[in-house]
Order: sequence, then C-alpha cells, then structure tokens
Amino acid sequence: MSLAHGYAAQDAHSPLVPFAFERRSPGPNDIRVEILYSGICHSDLHQSRDDWGGALFPMVPGHEIVGRVAEVGADVKKFKVGDIAGIGCMVDSCRHCDNCKADLEQYCFEGATWTYNAKERGGERLTFGGYSDHIVVDERFAVKISPKLDLKAVAPLLCAGITTYSPLRHWQVGPGQKVGVIGLGGLGHMGVKFAKAMGAHVVMITTTPEKGADAKRLGADEVLVSRDADAMGAHAGSFDFLLNTIPVGHDVNPYAALLKRDATMVLVGALTELEPPLRGVNLMFGRKRISGSAIGGMAETQEMMDFCAEHGIVSDIETIAIQDVNQAYERMLKNDVRYRFVIDMATLERAPA
Ligand SMILES: [Zn+2]
Ligand SMILES: [Zn+2]
Repeated sequence: MSLAHGYAAQDAHSPLVPFAFERRSPGPNDIRVEILYSGICHSDLHQSRDDWGGALFPMVPGHEIVGRVAEVGADVKKFKVGDIAGIGCMVDSCRHCDNCKADLEQYCFEGATWTYNAKERGGERLTFGGYSDHIVVDERFAVKISPKLDLKAVAPLLCAGITTYSPLRHWQVGPGQKVGVIGLGGLGHMGVKFAKAMGAHVVMITTTPEKGADAKRLGADEVLVSRDADAMGAHAGSFDFLLNTIPVGHDVNPYAALLKRDATMVLVGALTELEPPLRGVNLMFGRKRISGSAIGGMAETQEMMDFCAEHGIVSDIETIAIQDVNQAYERMLKNDVRYRFVIDMATLERAPA
C-alpha cells in the first residue's frame, strides 16, 4: 500500500477538500504513475454533486490523467520507469466478454470499472481518480504518450479527445466529406481539430455567433449559427456526418434536417431525454440515422494518442492550481472556460486554499 494525497468531495453538498487515502501496491501487471496533470471533465462536477445518482463518497474525481511511470510490476511489457502514461475513464473491465475481446472495454457487458466513483473489480475498495499525486493501474488501461507533446494539454485527450475521435473513426470521416460539429465546448473543440486533421470539410454548428472566430482558429472551414433559420435551410440535406456534442437534452429535429440521405448524427454529450421528442418522419425521409458513442476502447485510445503525436494535436486548456478546483467548477457551470481546465498536480504541495 502507498499513501496518496489528493482532493475529494466528502458528500454531494460540500466543496472538494484535501484528502489522504491508500492506493494498492503494484501487482505484476500494474504500473504506479506519478500524476503530473489532471483534466477537469464536466462529469467530475456532476458526479461529485451526485447529479446523476449513485455517487460513492469520499470521491476523488479525475479521469483525464497524465503522469510519469514511477514503478512497474514484474510482468509489465508496455512501460518502463520514466515513460509518460495516460489514464482515462476506465481502470478495468471483465476482459472476457465479446465487447472486451473486441477491444471495446467501455461497453463491457459486466460493466467497466470506472476510474473513480466505482469499486475495484472483485472488491469493496473505492477507485479514486486523478485529482491526486499518484495512481496504480493495470498496464492494459494505460496508454503511452509521446513526451514531445505539451503534456498538460494532452490530459483532456483521455476523455474529451477519445469521445470525439472514436465516432469520427467509426463512421470513417475523411476527405471529400462535409462534417458538422454541433456545440463548441470541451468535446466540440476536439471534434473540430480531429475532423479537420482527418481531411473533412468542417462546419462548426453553434448557437453562439461570437464563437465563430474561435471555431475557425481551431480549424473549422465554416460556421453555421443554428438559430439562423435561413442559414440552417441553406445547409439542409448536405451533411455526410454530424458529431453532436451538446451536453444536455435538446431538440435534435433541426439537426436531423441537415443530414444527407443515409447519413448519421452521433450523440456524444446528451445523456438524458431529448426534448422535444424526435419526430420519426425526420428520419424516414432520407433514411437517416441517429446513433450514440461513448469514449473508446484502450486500443483505440492508444491509436488516438499516436494520431495526436503525428499531427501535433492537443487540447486548448487553462491550467489551474488544485486549490482553485472549486472555483473552476463554478466557472464551468457558466461555460467560462476555453476549453478545458487542467490541474497542475505540482500545486498539491502548496497549502490548502
Ligand atoms: Zn470525462
Ligand atoms: Zn467485458
């Protein structure tokens, strides 16, 4: 066992505070990673406030983790001490179901083991996430990161990055296609960068015209303001693929109208009911599809990390001290971040705010 230090929510109504806890000693297939940076995902805020139910406290959030390997188990093959490793939303899965065998551990029939707000597989011990000084994880659930990348800006790739990369790959986005990215936040800004790097003609679809200039800086070829009915009409039936990153229930009908015949819109943000309901006719005429996608498997997360190294892709971030994590949550609620907060874990040694 090793003593870890981090920040935890003790219940759904209190701010995060300093917290000490134990990590397991590395087993034969485990690596111990000293955490350098931890991104802040919207789900961290929602889970620590139990907005989705089932929260397990104390809770150390964080599933966008970048660190340096400090110790490796006897059977570890992928990593050596000193390597840079990334850990995302999962730390384990059953490994024998059809989905795990297909390298889609996130869809494990028995349920993947989440990086925090879960119990370790086969035990009662809670998993604790990246807002902490180190983590112990099976090497299957860690990816290798090129040290040439800006490591603090790599952290959000472990959730926001793979969540957008995986559907763009699955639906084979590439040159000659017109691809729309709906919503410009932590997910959307990565969707624009990836779709552009894959060679597509990228249209940023946003309710906020002011975000247009930023979308173009990120690589969008065009900006479509979804509140402009004439502009939406001009783009009707013209998209090969839509990546919908809106994080709340919303009206998908106007977006369905943008799809070409047989084209797909994939939801990666909205977990809850779509309001108002989807009208069947909006899919029937044009044989259109609406699908969903959740993060990505470990093999694909490694593929994404290699793609980012090759194309020099990282997230746009604002670095904070861990003592400021509660203020960062408040700013996220006001969408006051471009586009991801990342905690510099070296600040853990400072006195609590
Ligand atoms: Zn996340
Ligand atoms: Zn499984």
